[in-house]
Amino acid sequence: MEYDLSDELKMLKQMVRKFVDTELIPVEMNTLTPDMKLKPEYRKRFEDKTKELGLWQIDVPVEYGGLGMGMLAEMVVVEEMARTIALPPRGGRITGPEVRPALYNLSAEMKERYLFPVLKGEKKASFAQTEPDAGSDPGAMRTVAVRDGDHYVINGVKHYINAGGADFMIVLAATDRAKGSHGGISAFIVDFDTPGVSRPTTYKVVTGEVLYKIVFDDVRIPAHHIILEEGKGFAIGQQSLGRARIRQGARAIGVTERCLELASSYAQQRVTFGKPISERQSIQWMLVDTYVDLHMARLMVYHAAANADRGADVRTEAYMTKLFCTEMAYRAADRCLQVHGGAGLMTDLPIERMWRDQRSHLIGEGTTEIMRMVLARQLFRDYR
Ligand SMILES: Cc1cc2nc3c(=O)[nH]c(=O)nc-3n(C[C@H](O)[C@H](O)[C@H](O)COP(=O)(O)OP(=O)(O)OC[C@H]3O[C@@H](n4cnc5c(N)ncnc54)[C@H](O)[C@@H]3O)c2cc1C
Repeated sequence: MEYDLSDELKMLKQMVRKFVDTELIPVEMNTLTPDMKLKPEYRKRFEDKTKELGLWQIDVPVEYGGLGMGMLAEMVVVEEMARTIALPPRGGRITGPEVRPALYNLSAEMKERYLFPVLKGEKKASFAQTEPDAGSDPGAMRTVAVRDGDHYVINGVKHYINAGGADFMIVLAATDRAKGSHGGISAFIVDFDTPGVSRPTTYKVVTGEVLYKIVFDDVRIPAHHIILEEGKGFAIGQQSLGRARIRQGARAIGVTERCLELASSYAQQRVTFGKPISERQSIQWMLVDTYVDLHMARLMVYHAAANADRGADVRTEAYMTKLFCTEMAYRAADRCLQVHGGAGLMTDLPIERMWRDQRSHLIGEGTTEIMRMVLARQLFRDYR
């Protein structure tokens, strides 16, 4: 189906599709380590190719050496790359290291120490917000940062943090617990090798990924490691998450499209009771409903990304996009798995992995219930 993309973006989409079909899909069952990281040999091979194709740092602003092509272009690339399980469920970028937007807010000196090494692939950042007693409700966080002269002292515990291989983290901590998420949370850069920081426990996710518990025990960091100023931490976290939510929508499109390709092809070949199952209405309806969902999801993602490129406030659209698209892709993976019967659950096909990965996207970066909760506030403002 044609979409209202510029000729340049249509060409970009076709180019990435060809790359995925010829270079990634043929090796997709063999590219990841047991903890779902891209094997170094594949990372090099894929990254060399994306450089050659002119996709390197497509989303990084021009002033930092990237292509600055904007969000719609990035979403088109994310969508196409999500058609394969050759890349990890999270953090699987092969178009340059992931740069967390918070790092663009750093001072010139801190950019030299953290942003530029990330851009060059020399350092990796993680984002630590969630705590055992503060997941959906970050205002309840108990990790505190107390000013002590030229330093802050951080104490507390974070968990479920995607911190594998990270050198430093953007940590959210309460600087005024009474204010909670309304100005009481601040963001800090903390190196993992700072005395008092430890990662005592790991968690294994259904996707195969490993997450970490992080303990802060009297961790002293220089006061200039705060990002922007006290009280801006929640907004900084949301700035990262807003973009990530539209990106999750683009991933969901790619996953759904691949599931539909596989299930449609399987349904036309699989014969039961003397006929291909594609001739059964129950199978057709599962596939058609997915086809319609896919069309709606694509319109939502392209619209939100184009609006973001125009500088519009897309917070509400980002919540809607994350909510609709992640639920849609999980439904799609589930239906397409069902169309495959027993074969859908076997690990030699990509469907079961897409189904497991997609389940995790209903929780990470804000649960579906929290998306609905925030959208309800907007709904009652719009329709008094
Ligand atoms: C794979 C994965 C990777 C992750 N990576 C990171 C990371 O790198 N950094 C990080 O900081 N965090 C990370 N997380 C944590 C994630 O952001 C949290 O798990 C998520 O925000 C939910 O918090 P929780 O688990 O404490 O659930 P809770 O907040 O305890 O929620 C439990 C249930 O109650 C519902 N609920 C809660 N409040 C309400 C309400 N007001 N109304 C209705 N329903 C409600 C929730 O939707 C959920 O269904 C990751 C999680 C996963 C699964």
